[in-house]
Amino acid sequence: MNVLNVPEPAFMQDEDIVLFGDMVARFLDDNCPPEETQRWRENQGVPRELWLKAGEAGLSALTVPEEYGGAGGDYRHEVVLMRQLGWKGADNWGISLHNAIVAPYIVHYGTEAQKQRWLPRLVSGELVGAIAMTEPGAGSDLQGIRTTAKKDGNGYVINGSKTFITNGATANLIVVVAKTDPTLGAKGTSLMVVETDGAQGFERGRNLHKIGMEGNDTSELFFNDVKVDADCLLGGAEGQGFVQLMQQLPQERLNIAIQGIAAAERALEQTLEYVKSRKAFGKAVIEFQNTQFKLAEVKTKLTIAKVFVDHCMGLHLQGKLDPATASMAKYWCTDIQGETIDECLQLHGGYGYMAEYPIAQLYKDARVQRIYGGTNEVMKLLIARSL
Ligand SMILES: Cc1cc2nc3c(=O)[nH]c(=O)nc-3n(C[C@H](O)[C@H](O)[C@H](O)COP(=O)(O)OP(=O)(O)OC[C@H]3O[C@@H](n4cnc5c(N)ncnc54)[C@H](O)[C@@H]3O)c2cc1C
Repeated sequence: MNVLNVPEPAFMQDEDIVLFGDMVARFLDDNCPPEETQRWRENQGVPRELWLKAGEAGLSALTVPEEYGGAGGDYRHEVVLMRQLGWKGADNWGISLHNAIVAPYIVHYGTEAQKQRWLPRLVSGELVGAIAMTEPGAGSDLQGIRTTAKKDGNGYVINGSKTFITNGATANLIVVVAKTDPTLGAKGTSLMVVETDGAQGFERGRNLHKIGMEGNDTSELFFNDVKVDADCLLGGAEGQGFVQLMQQLPQERLNIAIQGIAAAERALEQTLEYVKSRKAFGKAVIEFQNTQFKLAEVKTKLTIAKVFVDHCMGLHLQGKLDPATASMAKYWCTDIQGETIDECLQLHGGYGYMAEYPIAQLYKDARVQRIYGGTNEVMKLLIARSL
């Protein structure tokens, strides 16, 4: 999509990255056309086979090294996939969370045995990943979580409940944030990797009804004396969870910024098409100066946001994206996403409010971007700490 005319940064121009983009676009055209993404919304989730198809096509868990069955890609491949999902309107599918949030925890912190155990099946799509941090009583204040993982013989027993978990109705590999020592605060927090198929005491709650992103399953999860073996402790040492989360959250926030810009680009493209064909007072809506000014503002804001996100991607590829800068990207880009999509919807008139119009779906889906991955208020707290 070139609705913004921002040249790709050099690191995105490598031939294999460009060819990969073509391949992803073909996969999405074949498997996720608009009538199919509409069905996801009606069914509150994507079909389970789609994950296996992604596995077969080499699109699942892109950064898993070859020795664990992966493609050995890097963050650029994940960016290509995230953008294409946004451009094609297939971004209700939680594959970016599986790929660019869950799998990296195991790639970065897993012991050799843990990598062998989980990565090949994350790559094939046999395992679908989720990350469970949020609880009914603790979201922004992650240190307030109450889920525990207590040592029990050769393993651990997990107790607690989680909510708002993306891929929650489907996932069968869940990274659970739990307290291994509730007396130690952040230092007593660990990540437990739980395979849920056949896990006694594990239950899923409702597939939650949301005002947008209906094509993604979001659920409550309950752990009632769920026994796991000792090797489910990510990295093999207790108390590392908070550090692991803090190291990975900048990438999660950058992902959200990238997804936000891609969705807003699609909104601009859809709106340009609409205002050129819709007539009022004997002319096309694009001919009114107000329309031109509004779209000029939208294009300017998105261009600035995209250039900043490209800068953050460059930093991230060099391992230099700090938490404050990632928070700027998440907060700024998702605010801009909301603002620009709202303007685009306005230019559709009443049709913009009709559920079947892509702009209406883009509008609904955008709202959560300012909430999850750390609210935009929490992003400002993190930025403020760097002042
Ligand atoms: C669709 C969806 C998908 C999600 N997916 C996942 C997932 O996969 N995994 C997961 O673990 N979680 C997930 N979440 C949860 C999400 O990350 C939390 O909702 C979010 O972090 C906010 O937590 P909360 O809902 O408890 O709000 P609260 O923390 O209760 O916040 C309420 C309000 O208070 C503000 N606030 C809180 N603290 C401060 C402060 N110190 N200063 C100023 N303002 C503050 C917040 O910004 C917000 O406006 C998802 C949520 C949604 C809606």
